Amino acid sequence: MAAIRSAARAVPSLLLALFDHLGIDPGRIEETLTVLATRSEAVRTTLVTGCAPMWEAPCDEAHDGLPCRRHKALWAATQAGISDCRLGPWNVETQRRQPLLLSPPYTATLSAVPPADMLVSRLAMPIACTAAARGIACLASQSAALLPVLMDSHRTATDHWMTQGYGGYHDAERELVARALITLAAQGSPEHLTAHLTTFAANANALQQLLRDLTILFTYDAQLRTLLPAVWPLALKTVLDALDAGACLHGNGHWSDYAIAALLPAPQVRTADPNPDDSLNRARRDWLGPHALDELADRWIVLARGEPKAADAVAQFARTTSYTWQCTTGLTWLERIIEGRYDAFANHCWYVTYWLTELRETATLETSALSQWRRVVDGLAAAGDRRAVDLQRIDE
Ligand SMILES: [Zn+2]
Repeated sequence: MAAIRSAARAVPSLLLALFDHLGIDPGRIEETLTVLATRSEAVRTTLVTGCAPMWEAPCDEAHDGLPCRRHKALWAATQAGISDCRLGPWNVETQRRQPLLLSPPYTATLSAVPPADMLVSRLAMPIACTAAARGIACLASQSAALLPVLMDSHRTATDHWMTQGYGGYHDAERELVARALITLAAQGSPEHLTAHLTTFAANANALQQLLRDLTILFTYDAQLRTLLPAVWPLALKTVLDALDAGACLHGNGHWSDYAIAALLPAPQVRTADPNPDDSLNRARRDWLGPHALDELADRWIVLARGEPKAADAVAQFARTTSYTWQCTTGLTWLERIIEGRYDAFANHCWYVTYWLTELRETATLETSALSQWRRVVDGLAAAGDRRAVDLQRIDE
C-alpha cells in the first residue's frame, strides 16, 4: 500500500515540463494514473495531493476544446475515479453491495444514480480534481459541466446516508469535499456550499458533520483560515435563512444540538493530533473576528437559547477573541443562551466553566462584568454544577 500511495503522490508530476526530457510516453502515465484513480480511497486521496502541482502548470499547446498533452491524463484519471462510485445490488456471496460500473458521459449517467446507490466517499477525489480543473484552460468547459453534477450527487447522497446514520465515510475524503466547497465559495462560486447547507438545514447530522469538517480545515490550514470572514458568515446566513424558511433541524434524531453549536465556529482538533494545544492556540490567534458575524450573531443566539452545547460553543469561540470582548459581549451571549434556565445547563457544559475560570484568573473584570460572571457561576452552582461550586471558592 505504501508503494502505491507513493506512486499516487509522484507519478502526476512526471507530466510537468520539467520531466519532458525523460521522453516518457504520456499514454503510459495516463494508464498508470487511471489505475491509481480506481484503487482504495486512501490512494485516491493521495492522488489528489499528487495532482496539485499539475493544476498550477500551464497548458502545453492549443487544445481546440480537448484536454492538452499536459492535462489529458489527469482528466482521464478524474473520470476513471467516477466509474465505480455506484453501488450494485446486495451480493449474497460477498455479503455486501459491490460497485456497479458507471459509463461516461458522467454528466448524464451520474445524475441518474439514486442517492441510495451512491458510494459517497468515491466522489471526493473527482470533486477535488474537477474543482481544481476549473482554472485550467483546456479543461474549463468540461469541468464546468461536470462539477455541478458531482456536487449535486454528493449533496443528495450525503443527505440520504446521514439520515440512515451511515458513518463509513472517512475524514480525509470528507475534507477533500469541504476544502473544495470553501475554495469555490471564496473564488466566487458559493452556490455549491450554499446548496449543501440549505439541504442539510433539514438534516442535523449531515449539517454538524459538514460544519465540523469546515472548522477542522480552518483550524489546521492558515491559508484557508484567511477565508473565514468570506465563508463563515455566508454559511451561517444560509442555514439561518433555510430554517426561517421552514427547514426543521429537529427532524433527524438527536443531532440538532450539535448542529446548532457548530454554527458558531471555534477551532477544533483532530483526534490524532499529538499537540492539540499548539494547534488550537495557533488557530485562535487569527480566527474569525466577532464583528464579521454582525446581526447573524443575534439570529444564532435566538436559535441557540436553552442549548448547553451552544453555551460551550460560545465559551470556545470567546477564547479566540480579546479579553475585552469576552468580558462584555461574550458573557452577555452566554447569559442570553442560558436564559436563567441553569438547571438545563448544570453539569451539561464542559467548556463554559473552564472559560469562566480562565477569565477570572487572567482578566481584570469590571464591576458589571464581575456581576455577570458571579450571576452565571452562582446560577450554575445553585443548580448543582460541581465545577461551578468549585469556582465560587475562587474569591475565598
Ligand atoms: Zn491543459
